[in-house]
Amino acid sequence: ADRRLSGVVLVPDSPVGRAIASQIPVATGGTEDVFGHGVPERRRGERSGTAYPLMDGSVVVGAFVVLGPPLDPNAPMLDDLSPLITELGPRIAAARAVHDAERRAIADPLTGLSNRRELERVLSSASRSTASTLIYVDLDHFKKLNDTLGHPAGDAALKHVARLLETAVRDGDLVARVGGEEFAVWLPHTGLREGLEVAERIRRSIAEKPLTWSGAVYPLTTSCGVASCPELVGDVMNLPAAADAALYRAKELGRNRVEKAGSSH
Ligand code: GH3
Ligand code: MG
Ligand code: MG
Repeated sequence: ADRRLSGVVLVPDSPVGRAIASQIPVATGGTEDVFGHGVPERRRGERSGTAYPLMDGSVVVGAFVVLGPPLDPNAPMLDDLSPLITELGPRIAAARAVHDAERRAIADPLTGLSNRRELERVLSSASRSTASTLIYVDLDHFKKLNDTLGHPAGDAALKHVARLLETAVRDGDLVARVGGEEFAVWLPHTGLREGLEVAERIRRSIAEKPLTWSGAVYPLTTSCGVASCPELVGDVMNLPAAADAALYRAKELGRNRVEKAGSSH
């Protein structure tokens, strides 16, 4: 109901948190915010409320929050609300199970990024009428890191790079892990010039933020291949092959660099 609350993490001692922990409804007292402290500042009438725990069998799956002053136990509204609250728990649990399964189908389990299949789906439904750019990012000499520090360090490096990639792009862009140590960044509505800037920003940010592992720091570098449609490639579906070829050239030319598709050397 209030978009400002989307994504907010509630503290355990908030009325909602207490309702979830105790499994009994909790109403606000005084000027307390039903969502606890740390949530965006709202008008007083929007802060008071009652949190009803939502149960799926014996498991709490959330809380239903009614804003405003606490309802009188005999209020007629409660007759409507009670069956709704009883019914909502199992429904939310079922919806969440479906959501989780869908998420697993499109996400890479190690990094939480989209997987190759999801990238292909997004590419195949991409608009043909605006410019777009695909960047391939591959870690340099990653085998050496795995061989010297071990597989868990390699996994940590992949997660580290995944977070840096997410930070480098905007909402609406897509970051995917498309192979062992290979990532793709899809920039819809983005032409070549801007795409090259993003790739360079990615390359630099990874080179500047080394991996910390067992208290020591390890530098990481990446090579990037950039392909744009329609500037370098006629069809969106040919972007992966073109970006891959550009990446291959970036490796050949010494790594830790960005190359664009179709440029000859
Ligand atoms: P280049 O600079 O040419 O890209 O060299 P490279 O060593 O990065 O490339 P290569 O393809 O020879 O080796 C990739 C290595 O990535 C091989 C494998 O040990 C490692 N790798 C692939 N997937 C994973 C993974 O999920 N976790 C870990 N830790 N390592 C992985
Ligand atoms: Mg590599
Ligand atoms: Mg590779």
